[in-house]
Amino acid sequence: MADRYDVVIVGGGPAGLTAGIYAARAGKSTAIIERGMIGGQITFTDSIDNFPAAPGMNGAEYAMKIQAQAESFGAEIIMDEIVEVSAPESEGEVFKLNGNNDDYEAVSVVLATGLDNRKMGISGEDGFISRGISFCAVCDGAFFRNKEVAVYGGGNTAVEDATFLANICSKVTIIHRRDRFRAEQAVVNELKAHDNVEFVMSSNVVGVNGDNALETITVKNNETGETGDIPVSALFVAIGKIPNGKPFADLVATDDAGYYDIDETCITQTPGLFVAGDGRSKQLKQLTTAVADGSVAATKACQYVDRLNGREYI
Ligand SMILES: Cc1cc2nc3c(=O)[nH]c(=O)nc-3n(C[C@H](O)[C@H](O)[C@H](O)COP(=O)(O)OP(=O)(O)OC[C@H]3O[C@@H](n4cnc5c(N)ncnc54)[C@H](O)[C@@H]3O)c2cc1C
Repeated sequence: MADRYDVVIVGGGPAGLTAGIYAARAGKSTAIIERGMIGGQITFTDSIDNFPAAPGMNGAEYAMKIQAQAESFGAEIIMDEIVEVSAPESEGEVFKLNGNNDDYEAVSVVLATGLDNRKMGISGEDGFISRGISFCAVCDGAFFRNKEVAVYGGGNTAVEDATFLANICSKVTIIHRRDRFRAEQAVVNELKAHDNVEFVMSSNVVGVNGDNALETITVKNNETGETGDIPVSALFVAIGKIPNGKPFADLVATDDAGYYDIDETCITQTPGLFVAGDGRSKQLKQLTTAVADGSVAATKACQYVDRLNGREYI
């Protein structure tokens, strides 16, 4: 028989772990189900500089601290991937969650499924993440002050990342697969105003090379087929993010890009189902907003559970 919880949280990133703290501390039987790395995206950074009261904390260490805090209140961490969630057919019944390893039941569910970075899909890429490959210039750029770096991508994020890096790095090479940027012209103009930026257009990154850390990238021109190596200390990949909400799109509205199209109340169209974190459509996707969502969604989930049990949530 499937284990039954008051609140099941799908995703053990900062939003999900924070939801776990709130739900477990409110006395609800709580499970946080994570398919990969507890801590989610933040484990990709060596140092968090902008989270209040935790300057310089390592991302993995930060994740372990929130996990310990959630567990200290009784939240159970389960390693599994949830592939399907079915809503109760009538009030009083429970959600059914199917995982790759097990099935679960929950009175209320929080989807805190976050984002995956769109990776380049080239050999050796995973080994250089946090050793020169980064997906967040604002977070990690300062580690490469006065060094030569590259940015891969052609949208607003990539061009803005390159501008940010041009102010702190000795040289920035921006590589884009097309002959013109997708980014807005004003954003491109701002980048062009820097004289330490080199533009490598109509090209793809096809190789990442180095011993312990990234040393060079191999770039191939799509028109001529020519390849060449560029020495860099870091490559900032900005070719998009992929929200992880697709398996649950039947239960919660998503926007064109696949983000949960839900406002900051975190309440979905399905009674008892809430969303939290970067997977929700919002302006700023950072720790502060992820943990804020986690606390809101869990509070709503607890209120839902109490209402079904005829109790008023305090
Ligand atoms: C390199 C890098 C550096 C960053 N640095 C900073 C920083 O310094 N400061 C800052 O404020 N923000 C930073 N961020 C952003 C921050 O990490 C995110 O805003 C935050 O992690 C979002 O939390 P989340 O819980 O919403 O989503 P995520 O962190 O994406 O976590 C979601 C989790 O859900 C899991 N999951 C998804 N689907 C399923 C499923 N079906 N079943 C089970 N589990 C599932 C995923 O495996 C993942 O662990 C950085 C991001 C990156 C990539």
